[in-house]
Amino acid sequence: MSENKDQKFVYDFTEGNRDLKDLLGGKGANLAEMTNLGLPVPPGFTITTEACKVYLESGTAPAELREEVSAHLAALEAKMGKKLGQSDDPLLVSVRSGAKFSMPGMMDTVLNIGLSDDSVKGLAAQAGNERFAWDSYRRLIQMFGKTVLDVDGELFEEALDEAKAAKKVTVDTDLDAADLKKLVTRFKKIVAKQAGRDFPQDAREQLDLAVEAVFNSWNTDRAKLYRRQERIPSDLGTAVNVCSMVFGNLGPDSGTGVAFTRDPASGHAGVYGDYLQNAQGEDVVAGIRNTVPLADLETIDKASYDQLMTTMTTLENHYKDLCDIEFTIERGQLWMLQTRVGKRTAGAAFRIATQLVDQGLITEAEALQRVTGHQLAQLMFPRFDEDAKTALLGRGIAASPGAAVGKAVFDSYTAVKWSRSGEKVILIRRETNPDDLDGMIASEGILTSRGGKTSHAAVVARGMGKTCVCGAEELDVDTKRRRMTVGETVIEEGDVVSIDGSTGKVYLGEVPVVPSPVVEYFEGRMHAGADDADELVAAVHRIMAYADRVRRLRVRANADNAEDALRARRFGAQGIGLCRTEHMFLGERRELVERLILADTDEEREAALSALLPLQKKDFVELFEAMDGLPVTVRLLDPPLHEFLPDITELSVRVALAESRKDANENDLRLLQAVHKLHEQNPMLGLRGVRLGLVIPGLFKMQVRAIAEAAAERKNAKGDPRAEIMVPLVGTVQELEIVRDEAVQVIAEVEAATGTNLKLSIGTMIELPRAALTAAQIAEAAQFFSFGTNDLTQTVWGFSRDDVEASFFTAYLEKGIFGVSPFETIDKDGVGSLVRHAVKQGRATRPDLKLGVCGEHGGDPESVHFFHEVGLDYVSCSPFRIPVARLEAGRAAAEAKGSDSR
Ligand code: ADP
Ligand code: MG
Ligand code: MG
Repeated sequence: MSENKDQKFVYDFTEGNRDLKDLLGGKGANLAEMTNLGLPVPPGFTITTEACKVYLESGTAPAELREEVSAHLAALEAKMGKKLGQSDDPLLVSVRSGAKFSMPGMMDTVLNIGLSDDSVKGLAAQAGNERFAWDSYRRLIQMFGKTVLDVDGELFEEALDEAKAAKKVTVDTDLDAADLKKLVTRFKKIVAKQAGRDFPQDAREQLDLAVEAVFNSWNTDRAKLYRRQERIPSDLGTAVNVCSMVFGNLGPDSGTGVAFTRDPASGHAGVYGDYLQNAQGEDVVAGIRNTVPLADLETIDKASYDQLMTTMTTLENHYKDLCDIEFTIERGQLWMLQTRVGKRTAGAAFRIATQLVDQGLITEAEALQRVTGHQLAQLMFPRFDEDAKTALLGRGIAASPGAAVGKAVFDSYTAVKWSRSGEKVILIRRETNPDDLDGMIASEGILTSRGGKTSHAAVVARGMGKTCVCGAEELDVDTKRRRMTVGETVIEEGDVVSIDGSTGKVYLGEVPVVPSPVVEYFEGRMHAGADDADELVAAVHRIMAYADRVRRLRVRANADNAEDALRARRFGAQGIGLCRTEHMFLGERRELVERLILADTDEEREAALSALLPLQKKDFVELFEAMDGLPVTVRLLDPPLHEFLPDITELSVRVALAESRKDANENDLRLLQAVHKLHEQNPMLGLRGVRLGLVIPGLFKMQVRAIAEAAAERKNAKGDPRAEIMVPLVGTVQELEIVRDEAVQVIAEVEAATGTNLKLSIGTMIELPRAALTAAQIAEAAQFFSFGTNDLTQTVWGFSRDDVEASFFTAYLEKGIFGVSPFETIDKDGVGSLVRHAVKQGRATRPDLKLGVCGEHGGDPESVHFFHEVGLDYVSCSPFRIPVARLEAGRAAAEAKGSDSR
């Protein structure tokens, strides 16, 4: 903690740099970076996240902080030639929160700190502009009142509206100095009444209170919710930036704007942003007046425009990435107020990464780090069918891609309520604010009638990967009456709408969806090299090719039939890591399974098994053919037998009815007996996996024979079958030995009979803690391990997935017991450490032991990195996740390489 004597809690902008995000937060680190690049940043300093941590832990700011702030403030005052709040010529500052990761819910910035009844006059005199001074002062009281003193912001808005109404004007710029002066009096009264204290007239007190409020905002509900959602640790704390003010509200030669260094949706070069004259701070994104496109700045103020363009180029070349920026022009002088590597859509991430490679700014290895498996997964979402007959309602800005269909709701509460009861909803608002976060999470998509690409809805939706269309101005949204009107059409709450976050189009009713071009490409129906190839597809192709080149992990598919196997192959699978055989016992074959279970004599059992054998064999022949030349791991039967029998209640009723009619069916009676006998309290921990194989004579042998005969048939047809036999749910090496010995014998028989050498390998799943713990012994009998991380997670945690996910997982997630479900991302500390142990022990026994994973974690980005790190040979996942696994395996390898050479 603060034991370190040399620890410094305050850094001047000139002292920091962009690598100090942990300490200075993202905003502070980048302000420092821009300062050091020689860009025009208003001077200031940053209070570190460490100071915030001390405050949050102990309830008070560290003792040294006050002095350090005084020293830095004094230096700032000296530099600016005026003192904070000085009555004849006040230095004013903004107090801005800024954590390592930008997040909603943190305190809003307070501008114009240092103004008081006294210094407002000094400011007016200095600027020669009375209106400006009073406008700045009313903004301070409003922002300070709302964010620091917790006064309901609506009260100020209402007062402002009344002032405008009284004057019969519509925009704030039409209020003159006298109006604003009256408004200040009004605002101060609101503060006094609501906060129970006067608005502080002492500048330093204003500063200190604002800093403390920033610290406290770390723990607002909204911030906490967002951190959980985004898996941001809850103990990072936020930094606070104190920045000398520059003024965009000094008149028409001043203004404020936001911009991207390139189009955040397509990555194309160009001028993207919004500008608002005679405005301060958030005015530009708040939608209070109409902004102009950034390109118009060229005619408004050519010199500033040119300087801004050069600055953006400087930033892009320096950060080697798309940046977003905030700037202010004060009487023709450009000031940079913020920059960061900009958020972007999934598609833009791929395009921008390859564009930057082409520009020579980054290497292919770096490009690979600029995209994620989550983004790739997003690009594989279906899209709206362009040929479908649609009723276009209007068009807004394509803010975050995807095709979302749902019932219209007009407030966050309804969105949450309806989605809880299973409805798909589209949240429609004029614009969103942080209070809408819950509703946004609950919705399929978000639609707003105001705001641009940089509005709250757009930025947050992009971050969440939610479909969003914003600024659809034709839509007249009436949240009070819960409806929107578009021309003649009225859309009531509950009416279905479809929104396309890739085109910005809004439709009435449900529009059918079609597969994404990226999926078409993976399917081989679209070629990346073709002339008309989609730019996006070409970018994906390039990055995937690079990932495939550098990855060490192989990627296999979980597939049970030839069709899935073929698709998996098209998606880049290098084999099958898990072929479940249970479905091969369903449908018409169920009856054969019943006969097997009911068999009283060896003959009856043999008869049932030999009826199953050719069916099983046929399944395998097809599968081996589809995966010719690549490994196919076949898992012997795993689920409890009762899953193949009729439902106990249903059967009981049937038998009871028959008995009452005195025509009891002999077979049903026997079946019922069997069902009772096989009924288990905890089927997950009962008679299943290898245990079945050991107590049902002949079952596993039949399966092994089917595999071996299928392989022999493929061999004799000049194929290249590479089957691997996998025994499930082994807990001790003895179980495996028995099954293995039988299997070896069966295989030898088949080989002799068919004149083949099948080279079948035999291995086991590691899905019980005991198996992992005794991996050294188990490896004696296994040629490969495949970690069944689903069951391993269940058995390590001692909970069954089906039961817990629905009952208490949300509570656990809310309480932060885990940030993400351990079924989604592998629990590295618990389950992961068993995997690590088993890998080490297994390889110690058998150095050439092949290691893989076949749980759903095999397709989860974070888990793939873990499996790379522990040294598995492959991951196996559902066919659709294969591209994601390939990409992440490449990223993991490139990352590891990068950190080695550093
Ligand atoms: P956010 O994280 O919400 O973007 P910021 O701290 O960046 O919050 O600021 C809110 C608004 O105030 C932005 O438009 C920003 O450019 C503006 N702003 C912040 N500090 C100053 C300053 N010192 N002078 C002028 N405008 C400022
Ligand atoms: Mg900002
Ligand atoms: Mg299992």
